[in-house]
Amino acid sequence: MISKSSFILGQQCNKSFWLNINNIEPTNPPDDGALERLSAGNEVGDISKELFPGGREVPYMPGEQDKMAEITKEYIEKGITSIYEASFIYDDIFVRVDLMNKTDKGWDIYEVKSSTRIRSYHEYDVSVQWYVLKSLNLIDLNDAFVVTLNNQFSKSDNINPIKFFNIDSVKQIAEDNLREVKEKIHELKSIAANADEPIIEIGPHCKKPHSCVYFDRCWPEDIDKMDSIFRLYRMNLKKKLSLYNQGIDSFSKIQDEDSLSPIQKIQLKAYRENNTIINKEKIMDFIDKVQYPISYFDFETFTDAVPIYDMQRPHMQMPFQYSLHVQNNKDEKLNIFDNHFEFIAKHDEDPRRSIAESMIENFPKTGTIMAYNQSFEKNCINSLAKFCPDLADDLHALNERFVDLIEPFRNGGYYDSKFKGSFSIKKVLPAVCPNDDELDYKQLEISNGGMASSAFKEMRYQPKDQIEHTRTKLFQYCRLDTYAMYAIYQKLLEV
Ligand code: SF4
Repeated sequence: MISKSSFILGQQCNKSFWLNINNIEPTNPPDDGALERLSAGNEVGDISKELFPGGREVPYMPGEQDKMAEITKEYIEKGITSIYEASFIYDDIFVRVDLMNKTDKGWDIYEVKSSTRIRSYHEYDVSVQWYVLKSLNLIDLNDAFVVTLNNQFSKSDNINPIKFFNIDSVKQIAEDNLREVKEKIHELKSIAANADEPIIEIGPHCKKPHSCVYFDRCWPEDIDKMDSIFRLYRMNLKKKLSLYNQGIDSFSKIQDEDSLSPIQKIQLKAYRENNTIINKEKIMDFIDKVQYPISYFDFETFTDAVPIYDMQRPHMQMPFQYSLHVQNNKDEKLNIFDNHFEFIAKHDEDPRRSIAESMIENFPKTGTIMAYNQSFEKNCINSLAKFCPDLADDLHALNERFVDLIEPFRNGGYYDSKFKGSFSIKKVLPAVCPNDDELDYKQLEISNGGMASSAFKEMRYQPKDQIEHTRTKLFQYCRLDTYAMYAIYQKLLEV
């Protein structure tokens, strides 16, 4: 039986559909972020039921699709007018409809999403349901909708589902897609019946709309090498694939160098000369902007699809932690615990006021604030200022003092082949400051922002001793982020 989710998988790639239906173990299983999105989807699903309160839910019974469809039929026959997770089978295609509601004009179906805008695969989600329901001809259909989160919604008191969601009709799209859906189902059935794995070339579809769980199975092993064409900075994937398909898979095979961007040319040069490419002028341009004391600063944030605090919007970045290292003058050498200020909010309270107050207390009143990718920190500060109007002047004043440590790297001031075409701090740090255990993210239990965000949210459900452990690990991670900035900046001064 083909489910709606395997249909969507097949829309993305016939091969991943075949691998999935044949229970082939993924080489790239969903990461923490994907699992968090799944749990966000469940939270949103629960709230969406309040659009039609008092409805009946068809329970999920793994492997018992017929039974689920039977229960749905019983509900309809009993005259129930709002059904959650109504289940239907037509021609071996199984769908669960998030919400169904009967009106005077007939049944409306709703597909609920935890994102803030409609994407084309959402429309296909609905189209396959529309196809099954139309083909079954069991009920009168009126309309089909995609329900997404209203990103302008700001929580106050209880969540009103009418205001929380945007509801858009996609009936016409579903109608227009009927023929395509029918043909795709036919195609997928014949693929499912085939014993051989389909031959599909790699392409942009491997990453969009979802990163494929069989990525490493299909993509060449050497795409992570520093001279791989796939490591060229900011070249779009289509162009990389076009080069790759012409046999140009490494830097040495590139003939048309004129078409490359300045940074891409630097990448090639660094690789060929097996040397770090340094442009002192560009580094000096950056250094000239810096004034002591330097505040090396970094936020960690979490997001909630369903806001839990007043004035919180869906998926809004909520700063809950910061780390701050202060270097008073250029001769001052810091170790990781020197001149260090750090803060993590209580996991069960709105973090915004406490973090803003702590920042204002601990930031030096003058000097440069250095961040890595400053727009994130500055946006967070702007949103803290909105939330704490009485602190807004102090907070906005901080934003005037930022410089961005990524700038000399992104501008071509310093390039090392080990960056592999990325200027993220996780790539820059080990190349600029190698073989230093104190500066090694790999030694940490929490080693990236996504993990930090998940860890903070998990504390909501952890016992006290585990909470302490998580806080310790979070402190270690964020502390390294700002100490890494200090170490990278010292390296720039050296060169
Ligand atoms: S990696 Fe690409 S080609 Fe391979 S199964 Fe996934 S989507 Fe298909």
